[in-house]
Amino acid sequence: MPAGFSVMRDFRLLILGGTAEARELAGALAGRPGLSVVTSLAGRTRRPARPAGEVRIGSFGGPCGLARYIAEQAIDGVIDATHPFAARISANAAAACARAGAPRAALCRPPWTPAAGDRWFPARDLDAAVARAAALGTRIFLAIGRQELAALRLPAGRAFVARVFEPPAAAPPPDVEIVVARGPFGEAEETAFLRRRRIDAAVARNSGGAAGYGKIAAARALGLPIAMIERPPPPPAPRVADVAAAIASLEAWRAAV
Ligand code: NAP
Repeated sequence: MPAGFSVMRDFRLLILGGTAEARELAGALAGRPGLSVVTSLAGRTRRPARPAGEVRIGSFGGPCGLARYIAEQAIDGVIDATHPFAARISANAAAACARAGAPRAALCRPPWTPAAGDRWFPARDLDAAVARAAALGTRIFLAIGRQELAALRLPAGRAFVARVFEPPAAAPPPDVEIVVARGPFGEAEETAFLRRRRIDAAVARNSGGAAGYGKIAAARALGLPIAMIERPPPPPAPRVADVAAAIASLEAWRAAV
C-alpha cells in the first residue's frame, strides 16, 4: 500500500440480544456500509428467533470474559438490548465496556403504566406476586419465564396455568398446567385464552413493549387482577428507549472514530 494511505475497517457492533428490539435493531442495520454487526444470544432456547446478520450463542464467562471477547473480536461499540429483567448481563456489559474502553448504550424499553380499568397489584418479586395472586383468585395465569417455573413456591389449593414457548427442561411443580405456545398474542387471542382456561388472576412481569401487551389489555377487558412484578433497577446509563435512539448512539460513535 502506498505510504500515507490506510484502509478504514468496518465499525464492529456487538448487540446483546434475546429480545424483539435486538432483532429489530439487527434488521435495521443489516447491509449498512462500513458496519459489521454481531448479535449475542445466551442460548437458553433451542429454537431462538434468529436476528439478521452474524450471531454468536452462549455465555461469555462474566464481565472479564465479555471484556476479553470485546478485545479479541475488535468490537468498537456495544448495544445492550437484553430483556429488562436480565439484570446480570446488563451489569456485566457495563463493567466489561468500561474495562475494554468500548462505548455502550442500554436499550431499555419503557415499562407499562396502568390505564383506566387496570387492576394491578405491585409485587417486588415472583414469590410475592404468586402470594398476592393466590389471595386474589383461584385459577392463576403465570406469565413468567420458562426458567422461573422450576423455582416456584406455590400455595396449596390454587390451580396455575403457565404458558411457555418451549417445554421446560425440568418438570414443573404438580399444580402447574403447562401450555406450550409461541406468541406474540393479540388482545383477542389473550381474552379467548383467559376465558377458556377460566383464569381469575394473573402474575406478570412489567416487561414493557408491544409483544407482551395483549395479555395486559385482555386482563383489563375481563376485569382480572394482575400481580405485577416490578422491574429490577435499570442498567447503568447511558440508556436509550427505542431502536431509533440506539441507532443514533451508534452513528455518534462512528462519527467519533
Ligand atoms: P441474566 O440473568 O441477566 O444473565 C445470566 C447470564 O447469562 C449472564 O451473566 C451471561 O453469562 C449469560 N447471558 C445473558 N444474556 C446473554 C446474551 N445475550 N449473550 C450471551 N450471554 C448472555 O439473563 P437471563 O434473564 O437469564 O436472560 C438470558 C437471555 O434471555 C438474555 O439475552 C435476555 O435478553 C433474554 N430474555 C430474558 C428474559 C427474562 O425474562 N429474563 C425474557 C426474554 C428474553 P456470563 O456471565 O457467563 O457471560
